[in-house]
Amino acid sequence: MPVLPPALLVALYGTTIVVAVTVAVGVLRRGRGRTVAARSISVALVAASVWSLGALVAALTDGPVMEVALSAVVMPSVAVVVAAFWTGLAAVAGDDRPPGSRARRLLVVHPLVMLALGVTNPWHHLVILPSDDGYADGEIYGPLFWVHALYSYGVMTLAAVRAHRVRRDLPLMQGARVTVMLAVSTLPAVGALVQITLMPAGSPDLAPLLFTVVGLVDAHLVVRRNALRVVPIARAQVLDALGDAVLVMDRHGAVADANRAALTLLDAGSRPRDVLGRPADVALAVLRGGPGPLLAPGLRVVRLGRGEVVLDVRTRHVVGRLGRVLGEVVVLRDVSDDVRRERALAQANQDLRDHVATIERLQAELAEQAVRDSVTGLHNRRHLDLVLTSRAAAAAEGGPQVAVAIVDADHFKTVNDVHGHAVGDRVLETLARSLAGAVAPGDALVRYGGEEFVVVMSGVSPQEAVARAEELRLRCGSALTPARDLEIGVTVSVGVAASPDTVPDPQALLEAADRALYEAKDGGRDQVRYARGAIVAGESAGHGVASGPGAAAPASGRAGP
Ligand code: GH3
Ligand code: MG
Ligand code: MG
Repeated sequence: MPVLPPALLVALYGTTIVVAVTVAVGVLRRGRGRTVAARSISVALVAASVWSLGALVAALTDGPVMEVALSAVVMPSVAVVVAAFWTGLAAVAGDDRPPGSRARRLLVVHPLVMLALGVTNPWHHLVILPSDDGYADGEIYGPLFWVHALYSYGVMTLAAVRAHRVRRDLPLMQGARVTVMLAVSTLPAVGALVQITLMPAGSPDLAPLLFTVVGLVDAHLVVRRNALRVVPIARAQVLDALGDAVLVMDRHGAVADANRAALTLLDAGSRPRDVLGRPADVALAVLRGGPGPLLAPGLRVVRLGRGEVVLDVRTRHVVGRLGRVLGEVVVLRDVSDDVRRERALAQANQDLRDHVATIERLQAELAEQAVRDSVTGLHNRRHLDLVLTSRAAAAAEGGPQVAVAIVDADHFKTVNDVHGHAVGDRVLETLARSLAGAVAPGDALVRYGGEEFVVVMSGVSPQEAVARAEELRLRCGSALTPARDLEIGVTVSVGVAASPDTVPDPQALLEAADRALYEAKDGGRDQVRYARGAIVAGESAGHGVASGPGAAAPASGRAGP
């Protein structure tokens, strides 16, 4: 006898059947309905409809019709629901093997066996007992029913445990959806328990209705909320696989989501709740940085437990469909190693520059040493060649005139012979100092060789050159070099030549000056001679000109002391 009025039963089961079939078809027609999970839900919903139909017939009838409804309709459809439950939750657990695979084909065995047993039940009554006594003692199910029930609950429990295990590895939102699916899945079991313990025997079977509820919820989550869609899962997993910390901040500045790297950075790997939903200043408290907002874009040095870390902060608005800013994505990249490498590189570059500078300085010193004389510290002959070449070239192109004076110490060999070579060196130093102090700025002074010096003068007339040479002669002649209890003085003879009277050729200029010097020597030494035949046009050109004791300058004809 039905416990509820038949009309109510028809309405209840009828509605369930219509809703379940409609949703099942709707799921399959959707693009996403072609996933294993969605197909499993559809199959489960259709099977639950058949189950509901059988349960309705069984509730409204008795006798052999009720027996057949239970054994041939209800039991096989329950087996199908169980198989679909398994494949559905296996898909949730990431097992996307198609239903045709060998392992999946085994799932068909249970419904087929139940169909065979159900259809043949009138002959063996192993599933549903005969209804001869109207089940007065409440015993409806035969021994094989209990095997079927045990197997069914076993399979469903196993499926739930598997799905529960992978739930932890799923991203937050996906995991939450699987949790809801699992929680809803327990409904039929709870219903069965309530039915067996609290409701009178013969009450309508509520399990198909509850399974339909499970199917509807799952269909909603899978199809509408994309609970199992691969893209959001993949996106979330990619986000978690990223080495960069990614935080999603809501409009109120609270952390709406954080990937694994962010949780690790914020020292909340095992306690996401310390970060998720918390305001930024609380969630990011472990990052102690300098002044300014921590999440402002740019490089920031923050102190973490393990020391100083340089974070490259990048932000991006999350914009909703209507263009409203819903929040912000903040990416924190630890660039400490990059910065360290950059610093090391900059240091290495600096070291290299320093080395190059040192080498250049040493090279310059070496080059300078190559053109300097070690005894007097003056430039040497090599330097003279450079100076004279460039000034002669300038003079040839209409630049300032060049004059040279060769200064030669008189009877220097005697100084060496009488006082020794070391004293001779010191006398040479004195001469060098006297000359250096007497040359005009811009003049070049070199030690030409032995006890000879050359002064290169620029922009001077021959008269001025001779005058300056005279000045040099006087200075040198008056300088004394202390040597033990003596003071040694030497005189010098000077030969002067100037361009353009002579060819503006360095070699010719020096040779002319050298000739003048010989004339000075011949003339009795301690005097200045101007290169013979090299007097500026208009001047009286005698047999050379000279200054000094018994010599005359070209213009002044000034006498020496
Ligand atoms: P004159 O008046 O004709 O120029 O006579 P002089 O003795 O100066 O000429 P000479 O060319 O015969 O001798 C030059 C001497 O200069 C010979 C050499 O011993 C000396 N001498 C050359 N270079 C150096 C040097 O670096 N140090 C010293 N102490 N003597 C030098
Ligand atoms: Mg000499
Ligand atoms: Mg000499």
